[in-house]
Formats: sequence, C-alpha cells, structure tokens
Amino acid sequence: MKQTDTATDIIIIGAGAAGLLAGKLLTEQGLSVCLLEARNRTGGRINTLPYSEWNETAEGGAEFIHGKLKLTLELLKEAGLKKTKVGGEMWQVFGGSWQQDDDYLEKQNKVISKLKTLKEDISIAAFLSKEFAGDEHAEVRQSITSYVEGYYAGDVNLTSSKAFLAEWESEDEEQYRPVQGYQTLLDYLLDKIENGRGKLHLSTIVKQVNYLQNSVEIIDSNLQKYTATKAIITVPLGVWRAEEKDKASIQYHPALPQKMQAAFEMGFGSAIKILLRFKTPFWQQDDYKNKDIGFVFSDQNIGTWWTQNPLDSNLLTGWLAGPRAYELRYSADDIIFEQAIESLQHLFSVNKEKLSEALINWKVYNWTADPYALGAYSFSTLQSEAARKVMVQPVENTLFFAGEALYSGTETGTVEAAFISGKQVASQVLTTL
Ligand SMILES: Cc1cc2nc3c(=O)[nH]c(=O)nc-3n(C[C@H](O)[C@H](O)[C@H](O)COP(=O)(O)OP(=O)(O)OC[C@H]3O[C@@H](n4cnc5c(N)ncnc54)[C@H](O)[C@@H]3O)c2cc1C
Repeated sequence: MKQTDTATDIIIIGAGAAGLLAGKLLTEQGLSVCLLEARNRTGGRINTLPYSEWNETAEGGAEFIHGKLKLTLELLKEAGLKKTKVGGEMWQVFGGSWQQDDDYLEKQNKVISKLKTLKEDISIAAFLSKEFAGDEHAEVRQSITSYVEGYYAGDVNLTSSKAFLAEWESEDEEQYRPVQGYQTLLDYLLDKIENGRGKLHLSTIVKQVNYLQNSVEIIDSNLQKYTATKAIITVPLGVWRAEEKDKASIQYHPALPQKMQAAFEMGFGSAIKILLRFKTPFWQQDDYKNKDIGFVFSDQNIGTWWTQNPLDSNLLTGWLAGPRAYELRYSADDIIFEQAIESLQHLFSVNKEKLSEALINWKVYNWTADPYALGAYSFSTLQSEAARKVMVQPVENTLFFAGEALYSGTETGTVEAAFISGKQVASQVLTTL
C-alpha cells in the first residue's frame, strides 16, 4: 500500500456538476477539499468537446437548459456566462412525409387529464393499457412511449405515471443552451475550488471507501490512499449498480447494502448521442429550405435529430434513448454511425456518397458503454421516491451522498438536479462540522 497522499477535511468522489458545486460551496467556507475524479477531465456527463475539433460549441453529454431553471441560471449569471434560446420548428417524419404535428398538444391533453384521475401510482405502460387500449389509441400509445423513451430515457414498464405527470406539467416551453457550452460553467466552479483550499486529482479511480465515524480512508486503483474527516460520493447510479469486476465499482467497508438495493430501485436510462459535422448545413438547402428545422422526430432507427437553430452551425445531432439505446450498449461506434447515416439518408432523401462527402467529422457517445457512467440519466420509477430517501441518508455523519439521481423534484435527470443535489449535500455536511 502506498503512503497516504493527502489528509483533508472533505473528499469528494466525482468531479461532475454535483461534486464541483459541493466542492465550491465547501471551499468557500474555508474547508480543505480533495476531489477524486476517475476521468482525465472534469464534467462527467457534461462533456463539451474541444472547439479546435468541432469549430463550434458541441456537447457529447448534457446540452440543454430545460427551461428557466433557478440554480443553473443563477450559477451562469454568477460566472458571467451567457445562454442562448433554442429555436426552430418541431417536425415529425413518418413514412417519409414531413409534418408539423399540430394536434400533438391535444393528444397530450387527453393523456394529462386521464393521468390526473389516477389514484394509485402505476407504470406508464399499465396506465396506457388501462386508459388507452384499442386500435383507435395506437397513435397516442406510440407517441407517449416515444416521449418517455426519447426525453426521459425511460422505460414505460418502469416509469411512474405520477412522476411523469408532475414532470410534464412543470415543463417549460423555452429551452436554452449555455453559449460556450456547459463545461465553461464547471470550469468556473473548479477555478473557485482551486483558488480556495481545494485540490483536484484526475485519472483517480476510487475502488474502496473505508470509514469510521469522522474518519474516511479511500483507496484508488493504483492503491494510493487518501484520508479525510468526511466524504461525499457523487458517482452515477450506473456506478452504484456496477459489479465488482467493473472499472469504476466501489467497495464500502462497512458495506452499504440498503443503498445498494435502493440504487436498483430507481430508473437509470440509456442514451446515445451522435454528433455529425458537415461542410455545409444541407438541411437548410433545397427541399428543406422552407422548414426552419429545430427538432425532427421520425420512424428511423436513429429517429431523433436536432440542429443548433437559431445559431449558424454545421452540426447535426442524432439521438436514441431508452430501452433501444440500452440494446446497443455493446455495439461498436462505427455500427451506430452507419445506422445514423442510413437514417439521415432516408429522412433527407440524400444518397450516402453525398452525405459522406459532406461530412467533416463524427463522434458517437454511447453513455451506457461509458465505464464511469454506465448509463445516461435517471428516471422516476414507482420506487424512486422512497429509494432516494435511502440514498441521501448520511452514514455515521461521515459519508454523504449526491448526484442527479439523488435529487427529488420535477427536474429529474438534469444538470439542474445535479447542482441542487450538490448544493444540498454541501449544507448537510456543514451542519455536521
Ligand atoms: C447524453 C446525455 C445528454 C444529456 N442531456 C442533458 C441536457 O440536455 N440537459 C440536462 O440538464 N441534463 C442532461 N443530461 C444529464 C446531465 O448530464 C446529468 O444529470 C448531470 O451532468 C449529472 O451530474 P452528476 O454530477 O450527478 O454526475 P456525473 O456528471 O456523472 O459526475 C460523476 C463523476 O463521478 C466520476 N466517477 C465515477 N466513478 C468513479 C470512481 N470509481 N472514482 C472516481 N470518480 C468516479 C465520473 O467520472 C463523473 O465525473 C444528459 C446526460 C447525458 C448522458
């Protein structure tokens, strides 16, 4: 065993949104903080790509601010960073025909009013077969299923109807993007940490957490030891559920069986994001000139696409989420890329050669295959509420827990959720000192 590297007040495992905000708030209180991060970068499921490669702001992970989200907007303002409103129209392309789905809202309203009559919480699948059975409702079932899968990365068989209703009702029409990418906000937080008594260790994979009251010893994959009075664990749900053989799995001594079980009771969805940069935005040319494309939802294998509208951009993003993305967790990136190109060929009626010729670079982000995430983001199951309560409970006033999946509220699975959780855990820790 190697010598102890650092003795600190607080160790934070994970330098994503939750860990970095907790770190900033604790260093601001004069505490010494040591951040241990498995990757060779900060950000976790936020992954703003190098401008040098993409020539514009491109996100491999989180991209949108889903509405006027208080804490995210406050932090952006504090950091002096700007947001830009997402623009463009929503199109549906089924059987090759492009349509703006005008009665989409009406269909949603039917579903909302039925959801409001539910007494007991049931899964979305059970709700749909109870209230919208029969051929005449096939389209509604399809549309809600696609929505749950595409937006929440959820599985209709597991997703809570009550949570879905609450989240849907709180949804804001307006969406934004941080102009220079989410990473700029995290860089601001890290800067604050490092200007205080904070230190970041990258490429440090935590494998073991040994604890007694007010004493934590952490061992990484190189057998380096770190000690502190308390620790905050912010790893994704996928890592909580990981098997011992998995790269990021963590063993706790004494063990935390209730938390391990709770981690399995929550939903953790899959998502694949495909970024394609072209020489010119062909979706603004010829046949598509009159369509102010923002988002496209379609019956293709890679069915959801979006532009950077209203920005001048050559970037097109493909998206697959939910159980179908999970099925592709072992697929090679180039296979997924081929599927994306095929989907685009059909959607835009362009031939493959033309597309390949126009393509400058591409990248597939298959988040369930990512060893330090093992999934994309959480969704609410029937057990989530109770499970979150178990997860956020500190152990011996020494181990504390945070991360997007541990947040309770209507912004499930977002950066806002991670920030709120990071803020809450920082105040929790401060009350025990
Ligand atoms: C494809 C995709 C698109 C998304 N789109 C949006 C969006 O548009 N808007 C939005 O608001 N949200 C979006 N999200 C969700 C958002 O990214 C997350 O909710 C948020 O970033 C989670 O932050 P976190 O700090 O909880 O977790 P993470 O960012 O995952 O941070 C946890 C950190 O722990 C590290 N770690 C894991 N295991 C270990 C270990 N053993 N030792 C040390 N470190 C470890 C990880 O590397 C990671 O850096 C998206 C997510 C994905 C994947």
